[in-house]
Formats: sequence, C-alpha cells, structure tokens
Amino acid sequence: MDKKTEIIIPPMSARALVVAKGETLRIVDVDGRQPGDLVVFNADDLAERFSQSRTRVENRKIKITTGDRLWTNTQPPKVMFTIAKDTCGAHDLLYTPCCRYALETRFGVSRDGCLEHLAEALDPWGIGVNDIPDPLNLFFDVAVSTAGDIVIREPTSKPDGHIDLRAEMDCLAAVSTCSVPLSGKANSAYRLEVFSGT
Ligand SMILES: [Zn+2]
Repeated sequence: MDKKTEIIIPPMSARALVVAKGETLRIVDVDGRQPGDLVVFNADDLAERFSQSRTRVENRKIKITTGDRLWTNTQPPKVMFTIAKDTCGAHDLLYTPCCRYALETRFGVSRDGCLEHLAEALDPWGIGVNDIPDPLNLFFDVAVSTAGDIVIREPTSKPDGHIDLRAEMDCLAAVSTCSVPLSGKANSAYRLEVFSGT
C-alpha cells in the first residue's frame, strides 16, 4: 500500500478528511489507551451517514473488529467501511460522543468534548452539532452486565495500536481524540494515515 496522507490529531481535538472508495484509513492510537470517536458521511450525499444502531444490528455486536462493517442510515443500508485490520478488538457501538454537557455534569471539567470538536472539524462541509451521528467509539471497551448495566472497561490499546478501515464508498470521515479525563495518563494524540492500493 502507498501512503497518501498523514494527519496528526492533537489531544482533545478532531480532524476531517475525504477517503476515496478503495483507499484505507488507518487510525493510530499513538500513546495507547486513548479513546476517540469516528463519524462518517457519504462524501457525495451528506444526508447519508454512519448509523451506530444499524451497524450494531447488521454485525449483531456491541463492539466491532476485523471483518466487521460500518453501515449507513439509509434504506436499503449500504456499507461505508470494512475493518480490514484491528490490533485492539474493542471499538464500542453503544456510547454517544462526549460533549460539554457530559464533561461538566459527570466529570466536573469545563471544556468542549468530541461532539463539539467533530462539528468544528466538519464545519467546512456545513455539518453542525445537531448533524453529528452517534459514533463508532474507537479504542473504547464497553460491556453490558447480565442486569443490563453498561460497564466501561479499562482501555486495552497499546502504543501505536491501530484500526484499518477500507472505504467501500467515497467517505467524509471525522475522527476525534476524546476529552474525557483518563485515569493514570494524559489525553493523547492519534495519527491518521490514508493508503491507496491493497
Ligand atoms: Zn469523547
């Protein structure tokens, strides 16, 4: 594969880019144990976008990994990305993006979250806060107890852990590095790489 693009996403921020059909988007958790969010739009029709719930149902999983696919909100639903490789194995399909409200009420910190950062990155495409779909929560390990409680587990991704997503349509993708305070480490960066060819 030939590397075409490389973008650093600093801690607590987001970046957006177009990934053409057939290209592979690699998201690298540079220091490890850093959750983040991915949202995707059809680059040719922004009303068509990633559906967290459709992706959960089509894969019949609350977390996805190698071989699983990301689906649109449309009827019939379409595949946006296929996960070609994943070194982590825990990318959650239950949580909303964090936001200023959640950070203030649950964590006692006053700052923007993934929701606001994703909207800022997507502003050049006219996509605002209310247009951001629920995301794929990257490097974020969530389980459900037998009583139905949502349980957040310790992140397991290692430094330079990554997920490779092969685009099945021309995708506008936005990725954030999460603003939620982490236990035992500082919030850290991601690196995005786009490869052409196989
Ligand atoms: Zn977040």
